[in-house]
Amino acid sequence: MIKIILWDIDATLLDFLKSESMALKKVFLHFGLGECSDSKVAEYSAINQSYWNRLETGELTKEQVLIGRFEEFLSLNGYNDVDAEKFCEYFEASLPDCVEFMGNAERVIKTLSKTYMQYAVTNGAKAVQEKKLAVSGIEKILNGVFISDNVGFAKPSKEFFDVVLKNIPRVNTDEIMIVGDSLTSDIKGGNNMGFKTCWFNPHHLPLKYGYNVDYRIDNLDDIFDVLKNENS
Ligand SMILES: [Mg+2]
Repeated sequence: MIKIILWDIDATLLDFLKSESMALKKVFLHFGLGECSDSKVAEYSAINQSYWNRLETGELTKEQVLIGRFEEFLSLNGYNDVDAEKFCEYFEASLPDCVEFMGNAERVIKTLSKTYMQYAVTNGAKAVQEKKLAVSGIEKILNGVFISDNVGFAKPSKEFFDVVLKNIPRVNTDEIMIVGDSLTSDIKGGNNMGFKTCWFNPHHLPLKYGYNVDYRIDNLDDIFDVLKNENS
């Protein structure tokens, strides 16, 4: 019986790619780099993802991720006179204003809030995540939010989720379900803790070896069937 749902934010409840693209285009204009094409956005997005992956494996620190992704992106595009740190600063400041829900996410969490306790569990820069959660109204709908910067640890570490467990009502770990798009942070985190896992996989990526996925959905509306099945 599921009693508590832990939600990933970026690319699960909020359309991270859309806000990323809007923010990057804004930063390009601000730094006089002209229009940022969709292919440049895609290029940045791939670099960004690879840096966050390296944070999850412990290879890089958060600071190295934030600046390093732009150093690589700017140098690849020949913008060598642009300061990656300043570029990053403006980008991070622009991101929260470019908030967009993932399709039907807002309605889904509002509906579920009548029956379930729900919390956000997210990695990311504190200032950005806090503003996004406020601007989107998510913080008002959910029962609480856990941002890695505040917690002091990041998903998928057990330390991160230990802090979460200490601050939510006490239930069995298999009465908690984590829902997210990332195998390496959300599903792995859930597996580490013995939570039920629901992989939000709208692009139908192949499941990788070593991850225990209880449910796979490609539309957030399917969460209602998942919970019906669990709780029947
Ligand atoms: Mg995500």
